[in-house]
Amino acid sequence: MNELNYQMDLLKAMNQKLSAKEKMYTMICEASKCAYVYFSYEKNQIVTMGRWQEFFDFDIQDIKDINRVFDEVEEEYVLPLRDVIFLEKSGKGISAMECRHKDGRGWYSFRTTVDYDSLGNPQDKLIVVENTTKMKSQHDELVYMAHFDAMTGLYNRNYFVTMLHDYMIRAEKERNIISVMVIDIDDFKKVNDGLGMIAGDELIQLFGGFLKELTRDNVFACHLNNDVYCIAIYDPSVDCNAEQIYKTILKRTQDPFELSTKQNVNITVSIGVAEYPEAATTPLELINCAEIVMYRCKSMGKNAMKYFDASILNDFLRNIELDNKLREAAFHNNFELYYQPQFYTGNKKLRGAEALIRWKDEENHMISPTVFIPIAEKNGCIIPIGDWVIEESIRTFAAWREKYAEPFILSINVSAIQYNKIDFVDSLLLIIRKYHVNPNEVEIEITESVLIEDFEKVIDKLKILRGHGIRVSLDDFGTGFSSLSYLKKLPIDTLKIDKSFIDTVLADSATRIITESIINMVKSLGIESIAEGVEEQAQYDYLHAIGCDMIQGYLLGKPQTAEQFETLLNG
Ligand code: C2E
Ligand code: MG
Ligand code: MG
Repeated sequence: MNELNYQMDLLKAMNQKLSAKEKMYTMICEASKCAYVYFSYEKNQIVTMGRWQEFFDFDIQDIKDINRVFDEVEEEYVLPLRDVIFLEKSGKGISAMECRHKDGRGWYSFRTTVDYDSLGNPQDKLIVVENTTKMKSQHDELVYMAHFDAMTGLYNRNYFVTMLHDYMIRAEKERNIISVMVIDIDDFKKVNDGLGMIAGDELIQLFGGFLKELTRDNVFACHLNNDVYCIAIYDPSVDCNAEQIYKTILKRTQDPFELSTKQNVNITVSIGVAEYPEAATTPLELINCAEIVMYRCKSMGKNAMKYFDASILNDFLRNIELDNKLREAAFHNNFELYYQPQFYTGNKKLRGAEALIRWKDEENHMISPTVFIPIAEKNGCIIPIGDWVIEESIRTFAAWREKYAEPFILSINVSAIQYNKIDFVDSLLLIIRKYHVNPNEVEIEITESVLIEDFEKVIDKLKILRGHGIRVSLDDFGTGFSSLSYLKKLPIDTLKIDKSFIDTVLADSATRIITESIINMVKSLGIESIAEGVEEQAQYDYLHAIGCDMIQGYLLGKPQTAEQFETLLNG
């Protein structure tokens, strides 16, 4: 009896332990985010736990009920899901998969584990079901982000480069061509500055959307950065090539893009085209080549498409080389000033000297300021170079003025970047005072590019300069906006008529009419006129006849070294 009692107590204790464990497992199941189906082969018993009721609208009472799961998932997943759920029968060893619910409830993952006895017969089976909709959408989002640009919906740069790489491998095998177009919206900064960044972003989006419409099986597009896009055409053909795409872009850009604010924005684009394998054989190099050509388009007046050729690349590389050398030269002041005389037309008396910079590089090549000044303006060297020109020319001029009695004027070319510096006037005055020069004998030459900035501010500065007695000359007149009407508002002393007018003035009656009206106009405003680039006697005679005050040009004197110029003063 004691033995029986003992067995009873043991059984009770074991039952208590079991139900405590069962309770614990049930709690774990309920707390987890999964649904479970447990099947015992031995007892032919099936139970569901966890989130089953939440995931599916039916209960599983019997082993056959499990088949109802197949009615709930989309058709294409039914067969593979059978293999997963009946893992022990399929023999395929597939134990997990993801299916989409038919009623748009999202995605579910199914994972099956089967326990076998020592003879290989299945004992127990557990199917774990999880709602993976959120994970899946996060994953899809990541996949999307890895391939596409969120702003435009076009491919992103990285993926585009990968695709281009794959296409290049294919093109090499198939001996095909790939055209790459780099497309940049002209003057995008004006949209951003004028209408705000949000409008700018919307424009990028709208134009990107338009480019997306141009894509086909062999044409793919990406958003490179800011307002720059890239299109690649695999195996361009007669009806699908860069030229065709350009025509479509030109047609579209004839009409404005309408922003959500109802503002209309008109744009033009500059496009550079480079082709595999001619221009380059790696994706980045090919894009780079097209980019270089695109920048060439920009520098040549924008709103155009150009094709890559070797000379463009050479110019580009030369510019980089010049850029580096120029920084070096600016550091050591490896420059020289030449002086070109200016004469009064009537009596051919010396009126002044224009200081013109020369750069002799270390190989003794003379590099023209028309080549290096634009580079210096871009890389910032123009500031130290400009400071050097001002000090060196004024120092030389002061020595001449001390030595020679005849007064004349020193003209100094000043870049817009220099002119726009806050301390420009003060530092110029400092040098003028340092060398005890009369400000009335110093003239600064500005070009119309200065006037692009805030017009009123530019004028205020001109007034300050002139208030100190410094003369101001407007250089290269006729090459910029060439508007006679704004001349009235400009407080200047001298106007230099550009060489391009003088070159054609004898042959072209329209140029004569313009030149004469410029001279009459400035005369009436009390401004002196200088004709630049006078090379022939006939030009001189004509300019004399129409009342041009002064002449500068090879006919009467080329730019020359300080020593050579001094002989002019001597005589
Ligand atoms: P610019 O100020 O219009 O100077 C006149 C240019 O025309 C000079 O070219 C001069 O050599 C050239 N020239 C004068 N007469 C004749 C002629 O009869 N025939 C021909 N074919 N050319 C003539 P350069 O010295 O090459 O200077 C070119 C430009 O570089 C200048 O044009 C000026 O814009 C810029 N520059 C020169 N020196 C400086 C400088 O110190 N600072 C800045 N910012 N720019 C400078
Ligand atoms: Mg000049
Ligand atoms: Mg000029």
